[in-house]
Amino acid sequence: MRDLPNQFSLPRRISRLGQLAYNLWWVWNPEAQMLFTNINKSLWDAVNHNPVAFLHKVERRLLNAVTNDRYYLEFYDRVMKNFDSYLNAQDTWYATTYPNLSDKQVAYFSFEFGLHESLPVYAGGLGILAGDHLKEASDLGIPLVAIGFIYNKGYFVQHITEDGWQETRDLILDFDEMPVVPVLDKEGKPLMISVELPGRSVFARIWEVRVGRVMLYLLDTNLDENNNGDRQLTARLYSNDLDIRISQEILLGMGGVRALRLLGYHPDVWHMNEGHSAFLALERALELVRTGKTFDEATAIIEKTNVFTTHTPVPAGNDQFPIWLVDKYFAQVWPELGLTRDQFVNLGHQVQPWGETFCMPVLALKLSDYRNAVSELHGQVSRRMWNWIWPEKRPEEVPITHITNGVHTGTFLARRLRLLFDRYLGTDWMKRIDDPELWAQIANIPDGELWQVRRHLKRKLVVFANTRTRALWQSGSITPAQVVAGGLFLEPYSLTIGFARRFATYKRANLIFRDYDRLLRLITNYERPVQIVFAGKAHPADEPGKLLIQQVYRAVKDSKSGGRLVFLEDYDMNVARYLVQGVDVWLNTPRRPNEASGTSGMKAALNGVLNFSVLDGWWREGYNGKNGWAIGEDLPAQDAQQQDDADAESLYNTLENEIIPLYYENRTADNLPSEWVGRIKESMRTLAPMFSTRRMVKEYMTEMYESAMQADDD
Ligand SMILES: *Cc1c(COP(=O)(O)O)cnc(C)c1O
Repeated sequence: MRDLPNQFSLPRRISRLGQLAYNLWWVWNPEAQMLFTNINKSLWDAVNHNPVAFLHKVERRLLNAVTNDRYYLEFYDRVMKNFDSYLNAQDTWYATTYPNLSDKQVAYFSFEFGLHESLPVYAGGLGILAGDHLKEASDLGIPLVAIGFIYNKGYFVQHITEDGWQETRDLILDFDEMPVVPVLDKEGKPLMISVELPGRSVFARIWEVRVGRVMLYLLDTNLDENNNGDRQLTARLYSNDLDIRISQEILLGMGGVRALRLLGYHPDVWHMNEGHSAFLALERALELVRTGKTFDEATAIIEKTNVFTTHTPVPAGNDQFPIWLVDKYFAQVWPELGLTRDQFVNLGHQVQPWGETFCMPVLALKLSDYRNAVSELHGQVSRRMWNWIWPEKRPEEVPITHITNGVHTGTFLARRLRLLFDRYLGTDWMKRIDDPELWAQIANIPDGELWQVRRHLKRKLVVFANTRTRALWQSGSITPAQVVAGGLFLEPYSLTIGFARRFATYKRANLIFRDYDRLLRLITNYERPVQIVFAGKAHPADEPGKLLIQQVYRAVKDSKSGGRLVFLEDYDMNVARYLVQGVDVWLNTPRRPNEASGTSGMKAALNGVLNFSVLDGWWREGYNGKNGWAIGEDLPAQDAQQQDDADAESLYNTLENEIIPLYYENRTADNLPSEWVGRIKESMRTLAPMFSTRRMVKEYMTEMYESAMQADDD
């Protein structure tokens, strides 16, 4: 890796904090974060846990102080030693399993990467999955390089008005204050790539993010070389403007390949996380056509090394463009590929009820030999959904497999639990995360110790909600009723349920309100009260999603709920960590089979939170009858109205007759709900190894990357 310019004037004894700040390794190493929090915890919180901003702002006096603190320095030396040995390890899983593939390289493309709240260039689950994929590839030693965008306006900051309406506020990111480094040429000028858009070239510079051993390169068009419109091309995620959208995807797919070439990479495998980056296949084909191959010869070669992961079980949710837009942007490209217009359009052609489209997943499916969905049920749904591309095959023969998603254990596991695991699972447990036998030892953790950590994490959630809401109150931006809605009356002794996710209608955030009076009776029961904490954003253009937030918020503000319903504004990875660690039950109510996988419930399970969810996506595979609860049955989807009625009934009954009693009854003399703790252990034991990215990324390696790497030899 190149050396970093030393941006900070730090005391020499601790000068490597500057290096540490620029490698996101600290995200999943709490001890590395403590090197910053031990200097000034409130500043660390104030800068949103961003070590670069922290080092720019921290007072010299405090830095000098720790250089005289023997304990701090010992700790510093230990963390730095771990950091170095991580970066230099020769005995990674990849190195020892695939010694003959040491010179190979995987390129991973995604529209968004969710690595940490201090780098807010993600919208939700897809991005966080991509971020987790990079972290795990780093842990496993897989040679992987990634391409995406740095959005200088991020996604958006959410504010909820008194009437529950979602307002969006612009975020303006200052890259100099973030853990990203500009990639410069020999003269110190930004290294740039360009792509051709109608009537002009658009330039992009490249930012580097270090994710342990993995490099992530982010493209940015905010440059003097571009016109004003093009400078905004990478301002935001998921624009609804089709011209912006197709331009972004041309930049990501075609520009991304050019960026990797310019940076000197020769990837052997090309992984498209969703269809947004599928134009990379066209750029690769163009490269070969320019060497004299026909288009068919070129695609026969590139298909062997393209991997495509689909995430969208809803046809309308797939990324697609009207044909006229393809004419506008690609008229120059098809002659160069040696194709007619019809042949070109056919690569992504799909007839939809609303007309003919050029569909990005279709392009990706046609030009990849490796295709997967993200859970078993999603695999079934995808094979049926795309059967028309392989009309001669029966649905079960459609060549789309599944690799169920996972979460990066180190990123989402609470530090207190990590310490408990260090004691009871053996010191090398981090190396064996996907080993079910390791997790059998969860049984050895004394119930009391586990419950104590659970209570601690719930208290942290309560304090977090209070602190944020106090700050909003103090800034004068919310009313007293909103202070209650923000968690004023939240307390750490009641059964607490979490519901946090994107407010898309299929996720049915309002299912639990279907019988409002019954819900009120349950949550305000004097002896067995229940609290529910909601969080989540709706896409700014999604009016039904915003109406859902409003419906939830009005109930949250209703004095009849006694402040036991709470809405936390501005859901991000930080809020997510507090929630998935702090609540008792994680609720998920998607309309089956629309949840391709879902990952937040996996984060919850890892932290000893019990899942209560529809048997859709990952939970259909995770649920074993004893490690959480199911809503509804494992049956093919019925009519939506019927499904909503049946699921709501199932939800209330299970909550009332099973979950609430299990939590409050059968307490031991020291007030420990032993059956509940037993269920937590069953949940952690069975779910932690399965739904970790350790298992997931190894599957990508053994089922896809390995043979694609070998295909690249012929
Ligand atoms: C994990 C996570 C998600 C994805 O959760 P789902 O279960 O897929 O809804 C979305 N946003 C944030 C901030 C997350 O941490």
